[in-house]
Amino acid sequence: MIPVDCVFCKIAKKEIPAEIVYEDEKILCFKDVAPQAPVHCLIITRTHYRDLLSIGEKELPLMAHLLGKVLKIAKKLGLEETGFRLVNNCKESSGQSVFHLHFHIMGGRAFQWPPG
Ligand code: 5GP
Ligand code: ZN
Repeated sequence: MIPVDCVFCKIAKKEIPAEIVYEDEKILCFKDVAPQAPVHCLIITRTHYRDLLSIGEKELPLMAHLLGKVLKIAKKLGLEETGFRLVNNCKESSGQSVFHLHFHIMGGRAFQWPPG
């Protein structure tokens, strides 16, 4: 079921504004409203999935499409040389706070490993 108040569904439908970096019929990439790095974008599916564990076999072509776009977007944002971090928080204990599947594309600074 799609929550009526899903903020990322609203961004996908242009009901609330976001700085869009890339979009097509399947996915959308926009700048995070509270960036944790010089480059911090979120890439989402237009279709609402609660989290990565909601993805099944039939969504794997969509995930492949999304990953292909991550690479294109990372290059477009100038991250090809220095690299980037791709993050998915899946469910509450991982830090997920918006329950619409998304990946963080972060770059432009060094990151610690392991994360906290
Ligand atoms: P999570 O913690 O679920 O992995 O990441 C959610 C991310 O969404 C956070 O980095 C947060 O700053 C971002 N975010 C939450 N609400 C909005 C919004 O309305 N617009 C944008 N652009 N980003 C948002
Ligand atoms: Zn949603």
